[in-house]
Amino acid sequence: MTKPGEPASYDPEAVRARYLAERAKRMVPGRTEIRDLRSDTFFARYRDDPFTAVTPRDPLSDEVDVVIVGGGIAGVLAGANLRKAGIERIRIVDLAGGVGGTWYWNRYPGVMCDVESYIYMPLLEELEYVPTHRYAFGDEILRHLEAIAGRFDLVEDALFHTGVTRAEWDDTASRWRVHTDRGDEITTRWYVLCVGILNLMKLPAIAGMEDFGGRSFHTARWDYAYTGGSLHEPLTRLADKSVAFIGTGASGIQCVPPLAQSAKHLYVFQRTPSAVGERGNRLTDPRFAETLEPGWQRERMDNFQSIMVGRPVDSDEVDDGWTHHWAAVHHPTRKKGLSPAEYMRVAEAVDYEVMDVHRHRVEELVADPVKAEILKPYYRYLCKRPCFHDEYLLAFNNPNVTLIDCPAGIERITAQGPVVDGRQYEVDCLIYGTGFEPELTPLARRAGHEIVGRGGVSLAAKWADGPATLFGMMTRGFPNLFVMPAPAQQSVVTVNYTQLAVLGGEFVGGAVGLLERHGVEVFDVSAEAEESWVQKIVDSFVDGSAVLSACTPSRLNNEGHPELINPKNANYGRAMGDWFGYRELLERWLEDARFEGLDLEVRSTA
Ligand code: NAP
Repeated sequence: MTKPGEPASYDPEAVRARYLAERAKRMVPGRTEIRDLRSDTFFARYRDDPFTAVTPRDPLSDEVDVVIVGGGIAGVLAGANLRKAGIERIRIVDLAGGVGGTWYWNRYPGVMCDVESYIYMPLLEELEYVPTHRYAFGDEILRHLEAIAGRFDLVEDALFHTGVTRAEWDDTASRWRVHTDRGDEITTRWYVLCVGILNLMKLPAIAGMEDFGGRSFHTARWDYAYTGGSLHEPLTRLADKSVAFIGTGASGIQCVPPLAQSAKHLYVFQRTPSAVGERGNRLTDPRFAETLEPGWQRERMDNFQSIMVGRPVDSDEVDDGWTHHWAAVHHPTRKKGLSPAEYMRVAEAVDYEVMDVHRHRVEELVADPVKAEILKPYYRYLCKRPCFHDEYLLAFNNPNVTLIDCPAGIERITAQGPVVDGRQYEVDCLIYGTGFEPELTPLARRAGHEIVGRGGVSLAAKWADGPATLFGMMTRGFPNLFVMPAPAQQSVVTVNYTQLAVLGGEFVGGAVGLLERHGVEVFDVSAEAEESWVQKIVDSFVDGSAVLSACTPSRLNNEGHPELINPKNANYGRAMGDWFGYRELLERWLEDARFEGLDLEVRSTA
């Protein structure tokens, strides 16, 4: 193993050439073409909720204090913090039949979160809950989010199975008017967008996909009526079925083992192999809870985040693949006196070693050397989101599992099933583990409705050439509007999304509480403050295309076109952003209570 700063014990030229060759196989025309599931008529069923029946109701016309669009982690945390700030009439609106967001929709077999549960599941201390496993399964996370919503009384006034169609700022009344697809007209003082990231299912546009004669569905709409079983139980109805599974990303690697266990035959279509590290899930040690002191969860999140941003820590509390591999690659030890070019070489060597560990892992776990070779990832670690699983690779040792290498994607789909390299795979069922529209998806699209601010200007129009915000959470011309911080939206990026949502929720709750206490009727971002924030973001943009353009395409590098990333989509601080600086800035802003950067209209009675 090469030590940081030592000459590489591998042939960097050969490795680079191999990585580029693998990239070239995947940079094919049409790679990123998708069906637009918002409007697609053939696949209209993807707009239905297969999990909860829709309850008929009359349209509402009323006024509340806050409308929160989205009842996922962010929405529930925003709601909890608004409640703590004393806000009474809080209305969550969500297309789903309940709270949970990602965890409502993603119920596929084996679904879990690969970020440690003790830092991923929010408000554990307040709810006095200790997760049952080191990595929680989806149903436990969903139940926990439901428990938070229950604790903070966010369900009774919520409108589920309801999509906002349009929200418009009324300058005369100083209120938002929110219209929904159930005919509601809700008036609200504060409007909070918690619409999620990776919230739009992605179906690739594959020639002939409409012709498929069997059953097909996306992992985020699992059809248990067809497969039988449950998240934890065998999919009994697949015992006599051949199944094609497309996609080997974070969802795919979790689904494949239960499918391999249950299906008569499973064909896994792999475009790019994931780097699949060790998971090491285990039941929570009952003694763990006894060791916890008040404030432990924030400390543990901070410990994880410190390691992820390369800050020194005394101990590694989470101690897993993220804190080992991801952090090592992100922040290779910088020896004194190294030139930038030497440092780049060290970084490349560290990356090579980590990827080699993953390639060796495949060799160790997969018996068939041909399959093993196909499953080995040949690219730099951060080109794609890494994955962690202990059963995924082993599943390929099952005689009923066939791996199909299709770096250029599926050629076409016929009535019988997928075709690759001219070979027809006949299956009864086709499952798309093809993921979600990327983080770079503009907010207006993720929100799925028109948001109209002052002067009739829509958010989509205002952000047409990139976001323009203060703190990544407010935008001029859209008074009394908050947006949860998100990647590509001028805040920061965290591997543990919950930590960002906790901060966003605390800021929204804190800010609304403060504005209310100061009798503020309307706030808007000042022109100077927005300009200055956008400038900060653009200035901290690091053009990573020199390294990233050698990457295998993925949503992390704009599908192989990192040179097209808009600097306005960057973060507060270089690369993934200065998390601790950002949090300090927001917390200080709340503490100061000077509303710096906002223009205020104060109620005359205040
Ligand atoms: P994903 O990582 O985007 O994976 C989609 C898969 O579908 C990829 O393997 C992709 O190949 C493949 N694919 C797409 N179009 C294809 C085509 N036309 N032909 C063949 N293959 C095609 O999606 P995901 O697995 O649902 O995960 C999305 C994100 O959700 C993750 O990155 C993560 O952020 C989150 N997630 C998190 C967890 C967790 O445990 N925390 C679990 C699941 C999901 P390419 O790789 O070549 O593009």
